[in-house]
Amino acid sequence: MTTRKLRNFIGGEWVEPKGGDWLDVENPSTGETIARVPLSGARETDTAIAAAKAAFPAWAATPVDRRVAPLFKLAGLIRDNKETLARAVTEENGKSLPDARAEIDRTLENVETACGMPVLQQGDKLVGAAPGIDGEVLRLPIGVFAVVPPFNFPAMVPFWFIPYAIATGNTLVIKPSEQVPMTLQILAGYLEQSGLPRGVFNLVNGAKEVVQTFMASPDVAGLSFVGRTETCRIIVEGCARSNKRYQAMGGAKNHLVVMPDAKIEEVVRNMITSGYGCAGQRCMASSAIVAVGDATYREVTDRFVRASREVIVANPLDPKVADQAMVVGPVISAKAKESILALIETGVKEGAHLALDGRGVKVHGGGKGHGGAKGHFIGPTVFTDVKPGMTIHRTEIFGPVQVILKAASLDEAIRIVNDHPYGNGASIYTQNGHYARRFKMEALAGMIGVNVGIPAPVAYLPFGGMKESQFSHIKAQGRSILRFYTEEKIVTERYWPERP
Ligand code: NAD
Repeated sequence: MTTRKLRNFIGGEWVEPKGGDWLDVENPSTGETIARVPLSGARETDTAIAAAKAAFPAWAATPVDRRVAPLFKLAGLIRDNKETLARAVTEENGKSLPDARAEIDRTLENVETACGMPVLQQGDKLVGAAPGIDGEVLRLPIGVFAVVPPFNFPAMVPFWFIPYAIATGNTLVIKPSEQVPMTLQILAGYLEQSGLPRGVFNLVNGAKEVVQTFMASPDVAGLSFVGRTETCRIIVEGCARSNKRYQAMGGAKNHLVVMPDAKIEEVVRNMITSGYGCAGQRCMASSAIVAVGDATYREVTDRFVRASREVIVANPLDPKVADQAMVVGPVISAKAKESILALIETGVKEGAHLALDGRGVKVHGGGKGHGGAKGHFIGPTVFTDVKPGMTIHRTEIFGPVQVILKAASLDEAIRIVNDHPYGNGASIYTQNGHYARRFKMEALAGMIGVNVGIPAPVAYLPFGGMKESQFSHIKAQGRSILRFYTEEKIVTERYWPERP
C-alpha cells in the first residue's frame, strides 16, 4: 500500500510542492507511518503569501455578514463530521477519543464565536468629542496573517485564530505542525467547501523554513504562534526585526494548590484528569501539585499515587478502551519520550522521591496493533518530596509526570506559583471564599481555576498566560483577538457650515 502524501492548499488549489524533502507522519501509538508531509520551502510559502495578498482587498471590502456566511457553513461541516475529525486527531496525536472529541467541540465553538463578527467588530463613536467635532474608532482588517500552531491540539489551536482572521476581513496562510498535519488537511477541505473566495485561506505544510519565510516577508502583517517558549523567543525576534505584530504563546508548568479544607476525593479525581489527559501534553495540564500543610500533603500524595496507579495506559483507538473517559495514550514521538525519560532520571538524581515510576509501563492489550513495542508510551509518574527550583519543578516536562510539593501556608503556596518562570494556568482547591479570592487576585498566571483542574476558558473568553508563557499581551479567542486582527483607526472629524 502506498502511503498517502499530503498537499498544500494555495489560492484555492491543492498542490504538491516541487522538489524538497518529505517527512513521515507517525501514529505515535503504533509507530506506523500514516502519511508523508512535504517540507515546503520559501518558494511555496511566498506563493501562498502572494495568493493571500491578492485576495485581501476584495475580501476586506466584503460586508461582514457575507464574510461570516462561509463560517456558518464550516460550522455545519465540522458538526456533521465530528467523529471523523476526532479520529484523525487521535490517530496522529495519540490523545484519547473523548479528549479528541472535546477538542473538536472547542474548535467548533471558536468558529461559532467568530460568526458573531457583525457585532464583535463594531467600532465606537463619540459624538461631541469637542465643539462640533466627533471622534470615531474604526476596526479595520489589516492584510495577510500567518498562523503557526504546535502539535498538541491539531485542530483547536489553529482555530483560536483561523475563523477570527477570516471574519475580520484578513486573509491568511497556516503552517500546521509537521508532526500532526492530517487533521488540518481535512479542515482545509471543509474551508474549501465553505464558499470562501480563493486565496482567503491557504495552507503550506512544512517546518521552520516556512516560518522563517513568514517572518522575513514584507507582505505578512502579523503572525500568531503557539509552541515552546524557546521557539517563542525566535518568533519575537524575527517579527520585531521586520516590524510585524505577533502573538507568541509559550510553554507552561501549571500548579494546583490544595488547601486543607478541599474536598479531597473530588480533588484527586480532578487532578488525575488534569495531569494525565493527553498524556500530560496540554498547555493547561497540571504538572505541579502544591499541598498546604503536613496532613494535606500526606493525604494528597497517598491518594494521588494510588489513583495514578489505576490509570489505563493504552492505544486510544483500541476498541476495548476507546470510549473510556480516562485513557493515557502515547507521547508524540520517540524524541519526546527520550527527553521525558531523561528528566525523570534527573529528578531521581536531584533527590526527589519517585513514588510511581511510569517507565517501562505495561500497555493495556499489549502487543502489535495495541500500542506495544513501537508506541511512545510512558505511564503515570509521580515525584514526591520535590523542592521548588529542582529541575523537574522548573522545567516543562510535557508528559504524564507529576511533581508534588509541600507548602506551610497559602502565602508560601502562592510564592511557589509566583516564583515560577511560567504562568499559564494555576488552580486552587478550597471551599473557602477568602482563600479563593486571594488566589485569584495574587497568583501570577493568566488563567485561574477554583476547584477546576484545567481552567481552559471557553471560546467566548480570552485564552492566554503570563510571564514566560506569553510573549505578547493580546490573548487568543473571543473578543480579545479582535485587537490583534484589526487596526484601530481613530478618526476625528468636523464639517464647517456652508456660508449663507
Ligand atoms: P514547537 O515550538 O516545537 O513547535 C511549534 C511550531 O513552531 C511548529 O509548527 C513548528 O514547526 C514550529 N517551529 C519549531 N521550531 C521552530 C524554529 N526554530 N523556528 C521556527 N519555527 C519553529 O512546539 P511543540 O513541541 O509543537 O508544542 C508544544 C509546546 O507548545 C509546549 O511547550 C506547550 O506548552 C506549548 N503550547 C502552549 C499553549 C499556550 O496556550 N500557551 C498551547 C498549546 C501548546
